[in-house]
Amino acid sequence: PLALLKDPSLLKTDGLINGQWVKGGARFDVHDPATGQKLADVANLGAADAEAAIAAADKAWPAWRARSAKERANLLRKWYDLLMANQEDLGRILTAEQGKPFAEGKGEIAYGASFVEWFAEEAKRVNGETLPTFDPNRRLLVLKQPIGVCAAITPWNFPLAMITRKVAPALAAGCPVVIKPAELTPLTALAAAELAVRAGIPAGVLNVITADSQQSIAVGKALCASDTVRHLSFTGSTEVGRILMAQCAPTVKKLALELGGNAPFIVFDDADIDSAVEGALASKYRNAGQTCVCANRFYVQAGVYDEFVKKFAAKVQAFKVGNGFEDGVVQGPLIEDAAVDKVQRHVDDAVAKGGTVVAGGKKLQGQFFEPTVVAGAKADMLCAREETFGPFAPVFKFETEQEAIDAANNTEFGLASYFYSRDVGRIFRVSEALEYGMVGINVGILATEHVPFGGVKQSGLGREGSHHGMDDYVEIKYLCLGDV
Ligand code: ADP
Repeated sequence: PLALLKDPSLLKTDGLINGQWVKGGARFDVHDPATGQKLADVANLGAADAEAAIAAADKAWPAWRARSAKERANLLRKWYDLLMANQEDLGRILTAEQGKPFAEGKGEIAYGASFVEWFAEEAKRVNGETLPTFDPNRRLLVLKQPIGVCAAITPWNFPLAMITRKVAPALAAGCPVVIKPAELTPLTALAAAELAVRAGIPAGVLNVITADSQQSIAVGKALCASDTVRHLSFTGSTEVGRILMAQCAPTVKKLALELGGNAPFIVFDDADIDSAVEGALASKYRNAGQTCVCANRFYVQAGVYDEFVKKFAAKVQAFKVGNGFEDGVVQGPLIEDAAVDKVQRHVDDAVAKGGTVVAGGKKLQGQFFEPTVVAGAKADMLCAREETFGPFAPVFKFETEQEAIDAANNTEFGLASYFYSRDVGRIFRVSEALEYGMVGINVGILATEHVPFGGVKQSGLGREGSHHGMDDYVEIKYLCLGDV
């Protein structure tokens, strides 16, 4: 698929440290999950390279923070324009290494670029405060200053967007960054970095350390251990988030964590069922179910249960599964064999505990899995507790509003939640009762660049996107001026 790039020079395979492309001593392979075909070999960098990148970022910091906000805004805007001008090529690289359908791949480029556009604008609005004084001879002020060198460890499910929603606010605020992209999808990150270089982002301000799964841990440890790195942002599993949090404790780093979810999707008797089915399809099967906000558990009220299951299963059965570059494909491969195994394990467990498969249910060839719906789901099934991160929808039946709320909240996670209802009182009651950072009401998709994205409980810390997304990258300084 990469032979079709209009600009083959976007295909970078080396790391980026201090404006130099770094080959590294060793290389690792990147594969197309749809075909298993090798796409490229990429620099396998290590802890020493991460330290070199941190040092370069630290050296670049004074000049970067000294630029006017407007200058940084203009450079980010140029980066945004280049990302969009190369949307087709970037989407192709993304789909080749990640597997999502090409239309979705191009969609992610626009989504990822939108964070760069948004924070280019927000760069100019990092305002301080003047406070009322407690003494006529004093004046009180609040400054917001860039926090310092930032590190970003990003996942494979959104190879561009999870980088830009961290990196764009960091750069906008005046911070340099070191990025450690997922080992499964480094090519999108490197192409985006190449465009940042072309946009004129100075050497050392944006660094990329690529590494395979083993070396990634050493790189992660170096980023956590560094006293120079003042902020670490991670999107990934709660399990790894906890490890990183512990490793950041000795240096008391500021942390942004966007971790696992276990999103409930509740359909009440008073919902518009056709709309709920459409929302369910979009929420569950986008990116083959591999997003942290994908609905994981469907709770449907008894009065509409049969109708919902029938309509939902019929639509799911009509999905075209295949290589993301084929026309009409709406579900691509899963990212790796272990992901396929997890879906199979959850489906088998649900069936063993009394669930009924009403669509799909089986592994296909390679890394593909049939889009699956299981009716009669029960609270003791694995899928009730764990995030499947794949194309499997278990549907639970409930009777009362309180029962649905209790089931939805019965998890250590609290990222996204969804419900369908047309009763305005219920809409407020349920929205307030759900212990989640985000609630979609009569919608299946809710993320965009100018809203605060993030979770509560063990789904993470902090918010990305919106004007709140800048908060992590600035420190507040209080000035107390006397002798006035
Ligand atoms: P997830 O399953 O959460 O997506 P991975 O296991 O792929 O996460 O880890 C994500 C990244 O986090 C790794 O690429 C690595 O950089 C970092 N990481 C993972 N485990 C550790 C660890 N024990 N110490 C330091 N960094 C780690």
